[in-house]
Amino acid sequence: MSRQIDVSDLDIYYGSFLAVEKVTMEIRPRSITALIGPSGCGKSTFLRSLNRMHEVIPGARVEGKVVLDGQDLYGPGVDPVAVRRSVGMVFQNPNPFPTMSIYDNVLAGMRLNNKRMRRSEADDVVEQSLRGANLWKEVQDRLDRPGAGLSGGQQQRLCIARAIAVQPQVLLMDEPCSALDPISTLAIEDLMGKLKEEYTIVIVTHNMQQASRVSDRTGFFNIEGTGKPGKLVEMDATD
Ligand code: ADP
Ligand code: ADP
Repeated sequence: MSRQIDVSDLDIYYGSFLAVEKVTMEIRPRSITALIGPSGCGKSTFLRSLNRMHEVIPGARVEGKVVLDGQDLYGPGVDPVAVRRSVGMVFQNPNPFPTMSIYDNVLAGMRLNNKRMRRSEADDVVEQSLRGANLWKEVQDRLDRPGAGLSGGQQQRLCIARAIAVQPQVLLMDEPCSALDPISTLAIEDLMGKLKEEYTIVIVTHNMQQASRVSDRTGFFNIEGTGKPGKLVEMDATD
C-alpha cells in the first residue's frame, strides 16, 4: 500500500454553484500536505471530497478522480463507508461523544463499522490508539470517565485516537488547531510529525506559520472574487 492520493481534474458543486474548479494534486505518502487560502476558496469542500464526506451535504457533487493506491474512490461500486474507513477525518472543533467514556470514544468508529471484538482486543486497540495520539499517559487511569471531562487539546487528541483506531491510510484534518490554545496547538503539531511516519496527512489551516512548521508541501488555493470557484494556484515544497 503506497498511501498516495492522486487527484485529477476535480470539480465540486453545491447544486449549480461550482465551489472548486479543476484541481489536480499529487498527495505523497507519509507526508503532510497543508492547504491554505482565503476563506471561502473551497479548502474544506476539497478536503471533504477526499473521503466522500461531502455526500452528507444535500446537493453536493463531485466530478473528477480521487485515486488512492490505484483505486478511484469515485469509481463504480466503491462503498463510501469503506472509503471513510481508509480515509479518516478530524474536525476543527474537537467532537468526542461527550457523555461516552474515553474508552468507548476511542472504539466508537470501529463499533459503527460493526466490528466485534473481545475485551482484551478492545483494550489493546484503546491503548495503542491513545499511545499513537500521545494521550495514553494522561488518561490511562481514567478511561471510564466521559470524553467531555478532558481539556480541548486532550479532546482533539482523543478524536485523533478515534480516527486512527480504525487503521486508516490517510488522515484529513480540517483546521484541527483553530479551537485550541497555543500549548495544545504545539502538542497537536508535534503529534502530526509523529503520525506522518505512518499516515498520509492532509491538513487545512488558516495559519501560514503552522503550514510551514508542519507540512512537507503546501497547496495554495485562491478565488477570483466572491461567488467564484476556488482553484489550486500553486503547490510548493515547504522549507
Ligand atoms: P473554505 O473552507 O476555504 O473556507 P468552503 O469549502 O467552506 O471554503 O466553501 C467554499 C465555497 O462553497 C464557499 O463559497 C461556500 O459558501 C460554499 N459552500 C460551502 N458549503 C456549502 C454548502 N453546504 N452549500 C452551499 N454552498 C456551500
Ligand atoms: P469553514 O470556512 O471553517 O469551513 P464555514 O463557516 O465556511 O466553515 O462553514 C461552516 C458550515 O457551513 C460548513 O459545513 C459549510 O459546508 C456550510 N456552509 C458554508 N457556506 C454555505 C452556504 N453558502 N450554504 C450552505 N451551507 C454553507
